[in-house]
Amino acid sequence: MTTTLGTASAGPGEIDTGRLEVGETRDGSPFGLPVAVVNGAKPGKTLYMQAASDGDELNGVGVVQRVVPRLDPAELSGTILIVGIVNYHAFQVAEHRNPIDDTKMNRAYPGNEGGTSTERIAAATFEAASRADLILDLHQGSTSRMLDEVRVRCGKRHRLHDQCLELAKAFGCGYVLDQKGPDGQLARAAPDEGIPTVDPELGGAVGWDEESIRKGVTGVFNVLRYYNFLEEGEPLETQTRAKGFEQYGAPAGGLVTRTKALGDRVRPGETLFEVTTPFGEPKAEVTADSEGILWRARRLPQVATGEYVCSVGTDIDEY
Ligand SMILES: [Zn+2]
Repeated sequence: MTTTLGTASAGPGEIDTGRLEVGETRDGSPFGLPVAVVNGAKPGKTLYMQAASDGDELNGVGVVQRVVPRLDPAELSGTILIVGIVNYHAFQVAEHRNPIDDTKMNRAYPGNEGGTSTERIAAATFEAASRADLILDLHQGSTSRMLDEVRVRCGKRHRLHDQCLELAKAFGCGYVLDQKGPDGQLARAAPDEGIPTVDPELGGAVGWDEESIRKGVTGVFNVLRYYNFLEEGEPLETQTRAKGFEQYGAPAGGLVTRTKALGDRVRPGETLFEVTTPFGEPKAEVTADSEGILWRARRLPQVATGEYVCSVGTDIDEY
């Protein structure tokens, strides 16, 4: 059966790329999101994958750019639907939020086809995503430094929680953040439609981070093998899960020196970072409140009072 997404149309054993039209730009030109359809020669599940929902999060675009040429539809069971760049307007100017309406895409799902620019793009991509059995929404820690991890956002009491956790484990980055996300996330809205969904958060970078992209490519192929799109599945590896997430801000302005590296274990009372003047004079020292793992940290050393410095994943276990 031929599968279509926007102008991309592929019969069994075929792959096609095209555009999913969602409106017009300010000069009146129609614009469309770049899409791909990989239609396996054999029947199977449907995977939906998207990248750059946040326009400055480019590692997912790197993953799609590397995964698609390695897919052979003749070898594939099932179908893969891909939107390569979701936040079209933000991507053009390398910003996080859609500059047309200054809105974050991943707070607008399931979208509204007659709404704002962001809501229309959310609606168009949600419609495509709703055709799938599994969803990967490729993100990263914006431009902060972050562990490569996968987020389960539906919340522990959601009926699809176990299936989302299983998908996160199948992706297999090593770390999972299992914490209910804010309203409007694709990983919140799609499980409500019965579709297991996760946010792989592929590190953080300005531009592309090759190590995080490599982990993302591996994660996508892990998912394809585990859910039988491809043969030769491997047993799942144990993941380190955090169920809480504590953020730390600067108590004073100045320059931050971190005393822990990403992935380091942290104990209560241990120093996380120090703030000094430009001349190295100590101003403040911040210690951890809870036991956990240093998960995310700002990239630049300079901070104002109250500005974000780092996050610790807490309530850690293995699964
Ligand atoms: Zn994001």
